[in-house]
Amino acid sequence: MSSTFGHTLAAFAAYEAVRGEETARRWPWVFVAVANLPDLDVPLAALLGGEWVARLSLGGESDGHHGFTHTLFFALVAATAAFLLARRGLPRPPRARVAVALALTALLHPVLDWGVGRGVGIRFFWPLADHRYFCAWPFVPTAYYGHSLGEFVRAQFGGAALAGFALEAVIFGPWWCAARRRSAPAVALAALVSAAGLLAAHAQALWVEN
Ligand SMILES: [Zn+2]
Repeated sequence: MSSTFGHTLAAFAAYEAVRGEETARRWPWVFVAVANLPDLDVPLAALLGGEWVARLSLGGESDGHHGFTHTLFFALVAATAAFLLARRGLPRPPRARVAVALALTALLHPVLDWGVGRGVGIRFFWPLADHRYFCAWPFVPTAYYGHSLGEFVRAQFGGAALAGFALEAVIFGPWWCAARRRSAPAVALAALVSAAGLLAAHAQALWVEN
């Protein structure tokens, strides 16, 4: 999976693209929540254990991670629910834009985790199809997590995890800046810097494998 930091940066970039006075208060956090919701499967599996591990992972091939919370179906349900819960007071004109950006943010989560190319594959099309997809050309840094809070916190301070955070800042940060500036040169620069980050993340993935 991609890290919470990476998903959060991507969410802020998507939010910035539709930001307005009417969205200033709660919407940044709605985007962040939707972007990170799928990874609740890790603490839930650790907390509930037993049969829930198999339920969360759609059959028990993993430790509960990358199951139904990492499907396009879940992303659309989560984005719709979050939008309906948070839309009160949002005027009509930005409503459609915010809804679409929120849905894209939710859909991006399983795509980014697929881009890591490690661990358990992503069942994008569950419940319609069961195939697990693996990315053959990893372009997103791996996140590190544990099965307890202590393990999780310790894992964040390893060299590979810290390098991953730095790469995620290079990959997603420029899109956040470009969305704030809303200019063509800023978007072009973001594309260049982000592409360099993706290449570096691929090199890191190869290095970690060897
Ligand atoms: Zn995930």
